[in-house]
Amino acid sequence: MAAVIDGKKISTELKDELKEKVAKLKEKGVEISLAVVQVGNDPASTVYVGNKKKACAYVGINSLSYELPESTSEEELLSLVQKLNHDPVVNGILVQLPLPNHIDENKIIQAISPAKDVDGFHPQSVGALSIGQKGFVSCTPAGIIELLKRSGITIEGKECVIVGRSNIVGKPMAMLMLRENATVTICHSRTKDLKEVTRRADILIVAIGKTKFITKDYVKEGAVIIDVGMNRDENNKLCGDVHYDDVFPKVSAITPVPGGVGPMTIAMLMNNCVQSVL
Ligand code: NDP
Repeated sequence: MAAVIDGKKISTELKDELKEKVAKLKEKGVEISLAVVQVGNDPASTVYVGNKKKACAYVGINSLSYELPESTSEEELLSLVQKLNHDPVVNGILVQLPLPNHIDENKIIQAISPAKDVDGFHPQSVGALSIGQKGFVSCTPAGIIELLKRSGITIEGKECVIVGRSNIVGKPMAMLMLRENATVTICHSRTKDLKEVTRRADILIVAIGKTKFITKDYVKEGAVIIDVGMNRDENNKLCGDVHYDDVFPKVSAITPVPGGVGPMTIAMLMNNCVQSVL
Protein backbone atom coordinates (compact mmCIF):
# COMPACT_ATOMS: atom_id res chain seq x y z
CA MET A 1 0.00 0.00 0.00
CA ALA A 2 1.59 3.27 -1.09
CA ALA A 3 1.98 6.21 1.26
CA VAL A 4 0.48 9.41 -0.11
CA ILE A 5 2.96 12.26 0.30
CA ASP A 6 0.72 15.07 1.51
CA GLY A 7 2.17 18.28 0.08
CA LYS A 8 -0.69 20.34 1.43
CA LYS A 9 -0.03 19.27 5.02
CA ILE A 10 3.76 19.51 4.76
CA SER A 11 3.57 22.95 3.10
CA THR A 12 1.30 24.18 5.90
CA GLU A 13 3.82 22.92 8.49
CA LEU A 14 6.57 24.78 6.68
CA LYS A 15 4.52 27.98 6.35
CA ASP A 16 3.66 27.81 10.07
CA GLU A 17 7.38 27.58 10.92
CA LEU A 18 8.07 30.54 8.62
CA LYS A 19 5.22 32.51 10.17
CA GLU A 20 6.92 32.15 13.57
CA LYS A 21 10.28 33.24 12.14
CA VAL A 22 8.68 36.25 10.43
CA ALA A 23 6.93 37.26 13.69
CA LYS A 24 10.27 37.08 15.56
CA LEU A 25 11.95 39.18 12.85
CA LYS A 26 9.14 41.73 13.12
CA GLU A 27 9.78 42.01 16.86
CA LYS A 28 13.34 42.99 15.95
CA GLY A 29 12.00 45.55 13.48
CA VAL A 30 12.73 43.50 10.35
CA GLU A 31 9.92 43.48 7.77
CA ILE A 32 10.00 41.37 4.61
CA SER A 33 8.51 42.59 1.34
CA LEU A 34 8.06 40.68 -1.91
CA ALA A 35 7.39 42.58 -5.14
CA VAL A 36 5.05 40.53 -7.32
CA VAL A 37 5.03 41.63 -10.95
CA GLN A 38 2.47 40.37 -13.46
CA VAL A 39 2.34 41.51 -17.08
CA GLY A 40 -0.99 40.95 -18.82
CA ASN A 41 -3.83 38.86 -17.44
CA ASP A 42 -3.19 35.24 -18.37
CA PRO A 43 -5.78 33.40 -16.21
CA ALA A 44 -3.35 30.70 -14.96
CA SER A 45 -0.80 33.39 -14.00
CA THR A 46 -3.51 35.33 -12.16
CA VAL A 47 -4.31 32.21 -10.10
CA TYR A 48 -0.61 31.58 -9.30
CA VAL A 49 -0.02 35.23 -8.39
CA GLY A 50 -3.14 35.21 -6.20
CA ASN A 51 -1.94 32.08 -4.37
CA LYS A 52 1.49 33.59 -3.82
CA LYS A 53 0.00 36.78 -2.36
CA LYS A 54 -2.28 34.68 -0.13
CA ALA A 55 0.74 32.75 1.15
CA CYS A 56 2.56 36.04 1.84
CA ALA A 57 -0.40 37.25 3.91
CA TYR A 58 -0.47 33.94 5.84
CA VAL A 59 3.23 34.03 6.68
CA GLY A 60 3.33 37.77 7.41
CA ILE A 61 5.32 38.91 4.37
CA ASN A 62 4.22 42.14 2.66
CA SER A 63 3.35 41.60 -0.99
CA LEU A 64 3.68 44.62 -3.23
CA SER A 65 1.59 44.20 -6.37
CA TYR A 66 2.65 45.44 -9.80
CA GLU A 67 -0.05 44.58 -12.34
CA LEU A 68 1.08 45.82 -15.74
CA PRO A 69 -0.88 45.78 -19.01
CA GLU A 70 -0.09 43.23 -21.76
CA SER A 71 1.22 46.12 -23.88
CA THR A 72 4.06 46.88 -21.42
CA SER A 73 7.33 47.13 -23.35
CA GLU A 74 10.53 45.27 -22.45
CA GLU A 75 12.18 48.61 -21.60
CA GLU A 76 9.35 49.55 -19.23
CA LEU A 77 9.57 46.20 -17.45
CA LEU A 78 13.36 46.41 -17.24
CA SER A 79 13.11 49.86 -15.73
CA LEU A 80 10.60 48.62 -13.11
CA VAL A 81 12.97 45.74 -12.24
CA GLN A 82 15.85 48.22 -11.86
CA LYS A 83 13.71 50.41 -9.61
CA LEU A 84 12.81 47.41 -7.44
CA ASN A 85 16.47 46.29 -7.35
CA HIS A 86 17.39 49.63 -5.80
CA ASP A 87 14.38 49.93 -3.48
CA PRO A 88 15.60 49.14 0.05
CA VAL A 89 12.05 48.18 1.12
CA VAL A 90 11.93 45.34 -1.42
CA ASN A 91 13.63 42.09 -0.36
CA GLY A 92 12.46 39.80 -3.13
CA ILE A 93 11.35 40.29 -6.74
CA LEU A 94 9.06 37.84 -8.49
CA VAL A 95 8.20 38.37 -12.15
CA GLN A 96 5.45 35.90 -13.00
CA LEU A 97 6.24 33.82 -16.09
CA PRO A 98 5.40 33.38 -18.90
CA LEU A 99 5.78 36.94 -20.14
CA PRO A 100 4.12 38.19 -23.34
CA ASN A 101 6.02 37.15 -26.50
CA HIS A 102 7.43 40.61 -27.19
CA ILE A 103 9.42 40.53 -23.93
CA ASP A 104 12.63 38.49 -23.67
CA GLU A 105 12.23 36.48 -20.45
CA ASN A 106 15.96 35.82 -20.14
CA LYS A 107 16.72 39.53 -20.26
CA ILE A 108 14.25 40.18 -17.44
CA ILE A 109 15.49 37.29 -15.30
CA GLN A 110 19.07 38.50 -15.73
CA ALA A 111 18.10 42.03 -14.77
CA ILE A 112 16.85 40.96 -11.33
CA SER A 113 19.48 41.47 -8.64
CA PRO A 114 20.74 38.01 -7.52
CA ALA A 115 20.29 39.28 -3.93
CA LYS A 116 16.52 39.58 -4.58
CA ASP A 117 16.13 36.60 -6.95
CA VAL A 118 13.70 34.63 -4.76
CA ASP A 119 12.63 32.47 -7.73
CA GLY A 120 16.24 31.28 -8.10
CA PHE A 121 16.21 31.67 -11.90
CA HIS A 122 19.10 34.16 -12.30
CA PRO A 123 22.20 32.61 -13.92
CA GLN A 124 24.20 33.54 -10.81
CA SER A 125 21.77 31.60 -8.58
CA VAL A 126 21.84 28.63 -10.97
CA GLY A 127 25.65 28.73 -11.10
CA ALA A 128 25.92 28.93 -7.31
CA LEU A 129 23.73 25.84 -7.00
CA SER A 130 25.83 23.86 -9.44
CA ILE A 131 29.10 24.60 -7.65
CA GLY A 132 27.64 24.20 -4.15
CA GLN A 133 27.68 27.85 -3.14
CA LYS A 134 25.05 29.83 -1.27
CA GLY A 135 22.23 31.29 -3.37
CA PHE A 136 18.51 31.11 -3.97
CA VAL A 137 17.32 27.72 -5.22
CA SER A 138 14.43 27.29 -7.65
CA CYS A 139 11.31 26.73 -5.54
CA THR A 140 9.80 23.58 -7.09
CA PRO A 141 12.92 21.40 -6.84
CA ALA A 142 13.74 22.81 -3.39
CA GLY A 143 10.18 21.94 -2.34
CA ILE A 144 10.61 18.37 -3.55
CA ILE A 145 13.70 17.93 -1.36
CA GLU A 146 11.66 19.21 1.64
CA LEU A 147 8.81 16.83 0.77
CA LEU A 148 11.15 13.84 0.66
CA LYS A 149 12.98 14.76 3.86
CA ARG A 150 9.87 15.58 5.83
CA SER A 151 8.30 12.28 4.69
CA GLY A 152 11.29 10.39 6.11
CA ILE A 153 12.51 9.21 2.69
CA THR A 154 16.27 8.66 2.52
CA ILE A 155 17.89 10.22 -0.54
CA GLU A 156 21.55 9.35 0.02
CA GLY A 157 22.76 6.44 -2.12
CA LYS A 158 19.44 6.11 -3.97
CA GLU A 159 19.05 5.80 -7.74
CA CYS A 160 17.16 8.93 -8.74
CA VAL A 161 15.79 9.34 -12.24
CA ILE A 162 14.46 12.74 -13.31
CA VAL A 163 12.32 12.93 -16.44
CA GLY A 164 12.46 16.46 -17.88
CA ARG A 165 15.43 18.82 -18.17
CA SER A 166 13.89 22.30 -17.93
CA ASN A 167 15.85 25.12 -16.34
CA ILE A 168 13.25 25.61 -13.61
CA VAL A 169 12.61 21.98 -12.60
CA GLY A 170 14.67 19.16 -14.15
CA LYS A 171 18.17 20.64 -14.11
CA PRO A 172 18.11 22.25 -10.63
CA MET A 173 16.41 19.08 -9.33
CA ALA A 174 19.37 17.03 -10.55
CA MET A 175 21.81 19.38 -8.80
CA LEU A 176 19.88 19.17 -5.54
CA MET A 177 19.62 15.37 -5.64
CA LEU A 178 23.38 15.21 -6.29
CA ARG A 179 23.94 17.50 -3.31
CA GLU A 180 21.91 15.00 -1.25
CA ASN A 181 24.20 12.19 -2.50
CA ALA A 182 21.76 10.40 -4.78
CA THR A 183 22.96 8.80 -8.01
CA VAL A 184 21.23 10.91 -10.63
CA THR A 185 20.08 10.27 -14.20
CA ILE A 186 18.26 12.91 -16.26
CA CYS A 187 15.97 11.86 -19.11
CA HIS A 188 14.32 13.94 -21.82
CA SER A 189 12.42 13.63 -25.07
CA ARG A 190 15.43 12.14 -26.89
CA THR A 191 16.14 9.46 -24.27
CA LYS A 192 16.20 6.02 -25.86
CA ASP A 193 14.12 3.39 -24.09
CA LEU A 194 12.81 5.67 -21.35
CA LYS A 195 11.05 2.79 -19.56
CA GLU A 196 14.29 0.90 -19.16
CA VAL A 197 15.86 3.92 -17.42
CA THR A 198 12.87 4.93 -15.26
CA ARG A 199 12.46 1.34 -14.03
CA ARG A 200 15.90 1.64 -12.36
CA ALA A 201 14.69 4.50 -10.16
CA ASP A 202 14.31 4.23 -6.40
CA ILE A 203 13.07 7.82 -6.61
CA LEU A 204 11.40 8.85 -9.88
CA ILE A 205 10.73 12.57 -10.42
CA VAL A 206 8.62 13.44 -13.45
CA ALA A 207 8.33 16.96 -14.92
CA ILE A 208 7.36 16.72 -18.58
CA GLY A 209 3.90 18.30 -18.88
CA LYS A 210 2.25 15.20 -20.42
CA THR A 211 -1.01 14.03 -18.86
CA LYS A 212 -0.78 10.60 -17.16
CA PHE A 213 2.26 9.67 -19.27
CA ILE A 214 4.01 7.51 -16.67
CA THR A 215 2.15 4.22 -16.21
CA LYS A 216 3.05 1.17 -14.11
CA ASP A 217 5.36 -0.17 -16.84
CA TYR A 218 7.70 2.77 -16.19
CA VAL A 219 8.15 2.19 -12.47
CA LYS A 220 10.00 -0.24 -10.26
CA GLU A 221 8.15 -2.08 -7.50
CA GLY A 222 8.43 -0.01 -4.29
CA ALA A 223 9.70 3.18 -5.96
CA VAL A 224 8.97 6.68 -4.63
CA ILE A 225 7.17 8.77 -7.25
CA ILE A 226 7.23 12.57 -7.35
CA ASP A 227 4.83 14.00 -9.92
CA VAL A 228 5.57 17.62 -10.83
CA GLY A 229 3.17 17.79 -13.78
CA MET A 230 0.21 20.15 -13.69
CA ASN A 231 -1.99 19.37 -16.66
CA ARG A 232 -5.68 19.37 -17.49
CA ASP A 233 -7.26 16.09 -18.61
CA GLU A 234 -10.10 15.69 -21.13
CA ASN A 235 -12.60 16.74 -18.42
CA ASN A 236 -10.52 19.82 -17.55
CA LYS A 237 -9.55 18.17 -14.27
CA LEU A 238 -6.09 18.98 -12.87
CA CYS A 239 -3.81 15.95 -13.16
CA GLY A 240 -0.15 15.07 -13.21
CA ASP A 241 2.36 13.48 -15.58
CA VAL A 242 1.93 10.18 -13.73
CA HIS A 243 -1.06 7.88 -14.12
CA TYR A 244 -1.75 7.88 -10.37
CA ASP A 245 -4.29 5.02 -10.18
CA ASP A 246 -2.21 2.79 -12.43
CA VAL A 247 1.08 3.14 -10.53
CA PHE A 248 -0.37 3.43 -6.99
CA PRO A 249 -0.50 -0.34 -6.19
CA LYS A 250 3.11 -0.79 -7.31
CA VAL A 251 4.92 2.06 -5.52
CA SER A 252 5.90 2.78 -1.91
CA ALA A 253 5.07 6.50 -1.88
CA ILE A 254 3.61 9.02 -4.31
CA THR A 255 2.63 12.68 -4.51
CA PRO A 256 -0.93 13.40 -5.65
CA VAL A 257 -1.91 16.12 -8.13
CA PRO A 258 -3.26 18.45 -6.88
CA GLY A 259 -1.95 18.53 -3.30
CA GLY A 260 1.59 17.25 -3.83
CA VAL A 261 4.41 19.32 -5.28
CA GLY A 262 2.32 22.43 -6.11
CA PRO A 263 1.75 23.74 -2.56
CA MET A 264 5.42 23.14 -1.71
CA THR A 265 6.54 25.44 -4.55
CA ILE A 266 4.75 28.37 -2.93
CA ALA A 267 5.94 27.46 0.57
CA MET A 268 9.54 27.43 -0.69
CA LEU A 269 9.03 30.84 -2.28
CA MET A 270 8.08 32.07 1.20
CA ASN A 271 11.17 30.32 2.57
CA ASN A 272 13.37 32.12 0.02
CA CYS A 273 11.80 35.46 1.02
CA VAL A 274 12.69 34.77 4.65
CA GLN A 275 16.22 33.70 3.64
CA SER A 276 16.61 37.04 1.84
CA VAL A 277 16.81 38.89 5.17
CA LEU A 278 18.90 36.34 7.09
P1 NDP B 1 9.13 22.15 -19.98
O1 NDP B 1 8.11 22.08 -21.04
O2 NDP B 1 10.01 23.34 -19.85
O3 NDP B 1 10.07 20.87 -20.09
C1 NDP B 1 9.55 19.60 -20.32
C2 NDP B 1 10.67 18.60 -20.30
O4 NDP B 1 10.10 17.31 -20.47
C3 NDP B 1 11.69 18.79 -21.42
O5 NDP B 1 12.99 18.61 -20.92
C4 NDP B 1 11.32 17.69 -22.43
O6 NDP B 1 12.44 17.16 -23.14
C5 NDP B 1 10.78 16.62 -21.50
N1 NDP B 1 9.83 15.75 -22.19
C6 NDP B 1 8.73 16.12 -22.88
N2 NDP B 1 8.12 15.03 -23.37
C7 NDP B 1 8.85 13.97 -23.00
C8 NDP B 1 8.73 12.57 -23.22
N3 NDP B 1 7.73 12.08 -23.94
N4 NDP B 1 9.67 11.77 -22.70
C9 NDP B 1 10.68 12.28 -21.99
N5 NDP B 1 10.85 13.59 -21.73
C10 NDP B 1 9.93 14.42 -22.24
O7 NDP B 1 8.35 21.86 -18.65
P2 NDP B 1 8.53 22.35 -17.10
O8 NDP B 1 9.69 21.69 -16.48
O9 NDP B 1 8.38 23.81 -17.03
O10 NDP B 1 7.17 21.71 -16.50
C11 NDP B 1 6.89 20.34 -16.54
C12 NDP B 1 5.55 20.10 -15.88
O11 NDP B 1 5.62 20.49 -14.54
C13 NDP B 1 4.39 20.90 -16.49
O12 NDP B 1 3.20 20.12 -16.39
C14 NDP B 1 4.27 22.10 -15.57
O13 NDP B 1 2.97 22.65 -15.54
C15 NDP B 1 4.62 21.47 -14.25
N6 NDP B 1 5.17 22.40 -13.26
C16 NDP B 1 4.64 22.33 -12.01
C17 NDP B 1 5.13 23.14 -11.01
C18 NDP B 1 4.56 23.00 -9.65
O14 NDP B 1 4.73 23.86 -8.84
N7 NDP B 1 3.89 21.88 -9.34
C19 NDP B 1 6.18 24.12 -11.27
C20 NDP B 1 6.73 24.07 -12.60
C21 NDP B 1 6.22 23.23 -13.56
P3 NDP B 1 13.32 18.04 -24.18
O15 NDP B 1 14.20 18.91 -23.32
O16 NDP B 1 14.09 17.03 -24.92
O17 NDP B 1 12.35 18.82 -25.00
